[in-house]
Amino acid sequence: MATKPVRVTVWNEFRHEKSHDYVRKVYPKGIHEAIAEGLRQAGGFKVRTATLDEPEHGLTDAVLKDTDVITWWGHMAHGDVRDEIVAKVARRVREGMGLIVLHSGHYSKIFRTLMGTTCSLKWREADERELVWNVAPGHPITEGVGECIDLEKQEMYGEPFRIPEPDQQIFISWFEGGNVFRSGCCYNRGAGRVFYFSPGHESYPIFKNLQIRRVIANACRWAGTGVNVPDECPNEVKPRAVVKPKK
Ligand code: ZN
Repeated sequence: MATKPVRVTVWNEFRHEKSHDYVRKVYPKGIHEAIAEGLRQAGGFKVRTATLDEPEHGLTDAVLKDTDVITWWGHMAHGDVRDEIVAKVARRVREGMGLIVLHSGHYSKIFRTLMGTTCSLKWREADERELVWNVAPGHPITEGVGECIDLEKQEMYGEPFRIPEPDQQIFISWFEGGNVFRSGCCYNRGAGRVFYFSPGHESYPIFKNLQIRRVIANACRWAGTGVNVPDECPNEVKPRAVVKPKK
């Protein structure tokens, strides 16, 4: 029997690509289309995209209901994401929807809401080499990825990264400027699975890199196949009958 495809909504702020030529050159159709292309090529996914400037940011109730996992890329317009949409997405995550937060999404409302901390970090734009080390070789997210992803040029993200202790550390990065960073972190939030993955600055073709695409596809499979548990808090008026043991 064929397994059901994982339904992924690739969400992107989609502003840099409109306002900056150097970003449009790297991602002519937008970052979301590059991420979606990687997932479509991987197979096993039903992929749709959604962007900030669509009605309800493209995240209507119908879309959220039809989504097993969301990938989230945002940077310059975190403040434009409406709080009620964030609350709806957070609720769906706690009920079992997966969430993959990419790069500057560390400062998105949705990630900060689910983490409960500032999620701040150090950063530097200096075209530095990044080595993304796989520290969880047995985890489904690193399957087929190899022990290290070598990125020629990246924006540096460095510690201290003000996140809660990850439930599992998947990647740790080294930068040629000397900084290190917890670049791949897993969390459980209610019934939902959350993965933060830091590579993906808008001026580098990171989302066309085959190892990065593999990580994102693995993460969508891992986070998008959880169990859904409705958010409810029932008053159990009638006590359960206690069965007395027979003498
Ligand atoms: Zn960046």
